[in-house]
Amino acid sequence: MGADTYDVVIIGAGSVGLPTALFLAEQGIKPLVIDQFASPGQGSNKAAIGGIRATHSTPAKIHLCLESLRLFSTWEQAYGDNIEWAQGGYAFVAHREEEERTLKALLQVQQAAGLNIGWLNREQMLDLVPGLNHDGLRGGTYSPEDGSASPMMSARAFYARAVERGARFHFNERVTGLIRRRGTVVGVRTNKGGYATETVINAAGAWAKSVSLLAGLDVPVVPDSHEAGITEPVAKFMTPMVVDIRPTDTSKNYYFYQHKPGGIVFCITPDPPIVGTDRRETSQYLPMIAKRMVGLMPKLANVKVRRTWRGLYPMTPDGSPIVGRADELEGYIHAVGMCGQGYMLGPGVGKLLTRMLTHTETADDASTLAELTPKRAFAGTEALK
Ligand SMILES: Cc1cc2nc3c(=O)[nH]c(=O)nc-3n(C[C@H](O)[C@H](O)[C@H](O)COP(=O)(O)OP(=O)(O)OC[C@H]3O[C@@H](n4cnc5c(N)ncnc54)[C@H](O)[C@@H]3O)c2cc1C
Repeated sequence: MGADTYDVVIIGAGSVGLPTALFLAEQGIKPLVIDQFASPGQGSNKAAIGGIRATHSTPAKIHLCLESLRLFSTWEQAYGDNIEWAQGGYAFVAHREEEERTLKALLQVQQAAGLNIGWLNREQMLDLVPGLNHDGLRGGTYSPEDGSASPMMSARAFYARAVERGARFHFNERVTGLIRRRGTVVGVRTNKGGYATETVINAAGAWAKSVSLLAGLDVPVVPDSHEAGITEPVAKFMTPMVVDIRPTDTSKNYYFYQHKPGGIVFCITPDPPIVGTDRRETSQYLPMIAKRMVGLMPKLANVKVRRTWRGLYPMTPDGSPIVGRADELEGYIHAVGMCGQGYMLGPGVGKLLTRMLTHTETADDASTLAELTPKRAFAGTEALK
């Protein structure tokens, strides 16, 4: 194999590309990861607030995230890095009959897929999340095995362990072309050169569509902007991620938790969506979320916000990722469209891609790939996207 020949080229050193590189290298597969930015995780990964849940509404996302949860929760023992993993659980709160009905209906799918999740009545929810506004609270779901970790610390950890095991990384380099011969991938072209490979994984996040077009393929991935923020650290007073799925005139769901060092980290889904790749934060966001957060938990009114930021969700029409081989081009694999859950999906997707490339897929993998196929109709909608 020549110096510029790799078993696999991964486009994107983000939430998906980083763990994928590590798991491939662990199997003796030599990947080259190429990223246009200067260091690991500088796309959407660093914008994520660190929530990791298997509490979804479709079996594929549940299975992938159960695997991610196993990896995040045992990371420090297995690899030695502190990634600020905390098992605080997720609490989806219901204040109206609509949300109670939606969440209870989802419980059946979630429990059938093997999730540890149940319904808490109003008093139980108030015990779990002290400080929640009592007004109108009906209860909600609680999944104690979900948790959180630091996206920046885990990106560093995935990167360092991947390099140790032989993965190569090229930063500040942009993939500009795909080289194909008779319907098969044979290499990639970048602004700095070219590399031979028989396998390319598109893990380009919000930029997945333009990368896909380089291969002559189209994927329905459209980025939209979401803003997040963090407060000053305060004494520990809550453990779960709290998610409020009630829509308002200007936003859909929002979620927040107290991370390990004590700050409250929060994020909101604007409505209508802000489509595009603009990552500059705005002044509209904080008043919008502050009102909702203080409404839900009045004691947060006195906590100072330290910083806000904006990042991109790589959205698909149905809210589920697109993972699988391209029938049209041998050697080309999609790992895109992670929507608002790419951080939590990343390690599970990385393991799945590794089993695909080592021909060790399980029966569960086959159904996950059938659900996430690029060939699907994109007709349904994942309820907790
Ligand atoms: C405010 C906010 C909060 C969020 N909170 C959470 C959360 O709590 N939990 C969760 O799971 N998810 C969360 N997300 C979503 C999560 O951040 C994304 O889904 C995830 O990071 C996407 O992962 P990815 O690997 O697909 O993309 P990225 O992490 O963006 O990686 C893609 C990489 O590809 C590179 N790239 C693209 N095109 C090229 C090219 N042509 N050449 C070279 N490199 C290229 C980019 O530079 C980028 O680094 C949040 C997102 C935002 C914005």
